[in-house]
Amino acid sequence: MRLAVIGTGYVGLVAGACFAESGNDVVCVDKDQKKIETLNAGQMPIYEPGLEELVRRNRAEGRLTFTTSLDQAVQEAQVVFIAVGTPQGEDGSADLQHVLSVARDIARAMNGYKVIVDKSTVPVGTSEKVAAVIRPETTHPFSVVSNPEFLKQGAAIDDFMKPDRVVIGTSDQQSTDIMLELYSPFTRTGAPIMVMDPASAELAKYAANAMLATRISFMNEVANVCELVGADVDHVRKAIGSDRRIGTSFLFPGVGYGGSCFPKDVQAMMHFASEKNYDFKILNAVEEVNATQKRRLFEKMQQHFGDMRGKTVAIWGLAFKPKTDDMREAPSIPLVRSLTGAGAKVQAYDPEAAKVARTLFDGNVDYHPTNYDALKGADCLAIVTEWNEFRRPDFDRMKALMNSPVVFDGRNLFTPEQMKQQGFTYYSIGRH
Ligand code: NAD
Repeated sequence: MRLAVIGTGYVGLVAGACFAESGNDVVCVDKDQKKIETLNAGQMPIYEPGLEELVRRNRAEGRLTFTTSLDQAVQEAQVVFIAVGTPQGEDGSADLQHVLSVARDIARAMNGYKVIVDKSTVPVGTSEKVAAVIRPETTHPFSVVSNPEFLKQGAAIDDFMKPDRVVIGTSDQQSTDIMLELYSPFTRTGAPIMVMDPASAELAKYAANAMLATRISFMNEVANVCELVGADVDHVRKAIGSDRRIGTSFLFPGVGYGGSCFPKDVQAMMHFASEKNYDFKILNAVEEVNATQKRRLFEKMQQHFGDMRGKTVAIWGLAFKPKTDDMREAPSIPLVRSLTGAGAKVQAYDPEAAKVARTLFDGNVDYHPTNYDALKGADCLAIVTEWNEFRRPDFDRMKALMNSPVVFDGRNLFTPEQMKQQGFTYYSIGRH
């Protein structure tokens, strides 16, 4: 099939590359000329494991191209994906300006029947809004389909190639058949393709992210109670996770969720519920707990040191999660700002996110080429992102480099017993 993907970000680029990998001809479009030039020069605008190789192979074989020309891409395509950002508006709602402006551009470029697919995360009713924008602009027939994306950054290729499920929200047979054909190579292992009405498809994406965010905040509260009553959240997590109704995944406490999706999707869901006069109480609490949790490490440091002025703090991990360079809503952001605001000096290391971080922080933040370099003369270490390379460090080397052996572990990478044995003063989440 010939496809156009509008918006070449974390979702659009992965989707485009994966669709090309299964034999489709894909044109990826972005309005950001620099991004397109970077891709056409064979470089990656983002870090995502495996993506560079996939893009290189499919470009070389002529199935994947990049352009800023939406018109031509739409005219040559049978299916057009909208994968642009839907950032949080000032009132918490999803800002649809990019989606609707792309819909208008698509309509004006149409030269025949097109399936127009919303892959961006959009509130219920957006399919109708997209259709309403397109209708007056063209005489050509079209279908609008909602096809929310469930990939995780850091494992995006795998998630796209082997999805748990594919959700297709549509109300006509022609587009259903096309979407089923397009996705059939990705569901050979038996993952279901679920065809439903557009409203349910749109809501399913928000409900999934809201549920995951709820699990995180729930476990963070359990961890906070563990600290107060002298329990160990690791034992509690294992004990409850072995109940199959609960399951083991997403039960890890930490420094709060971040990223480009959970915070804005939780907000958007509360917002569209409130537009129908429904107060989504749980999500209010989920958000409040998350905001509090993002302050935990800083509070623990203040309790330990008193005043942070003049202290040097090493930070391992800036990205909102491992295996990405994405820092949108990362818990490291409020931590770094609290530290520099309190007069501390930050020495940071992240395998991929330092370049983005440099654009976010000014003053009193140094970036180091290795995790050990960041420790030189530090009064303490804060672990904020659980990159694999932090899991088995050389503790003696760490102690030799640091001013004092104090670790604030926001990801519970080590055990309190192990750290005591190694001679560290160790603070983690929900353990003693
Ligand atoms: P992103 O910011 O990385 O990429 C969006 C891209 O769209 C940018 O490159 C931007 O330049 C481009 N764009 C904006 N307006 C455009 C226009 N008018 N014409 C052409 N290009 C335009 O965003 P993302 O993380 O890929 O997310 C995209 C959507 O997918 C969002 O709705 C998000 O909620 C959803 N989503 C994201 C993830 C994720 O893990 N990042 C997962 C699932 C769903």
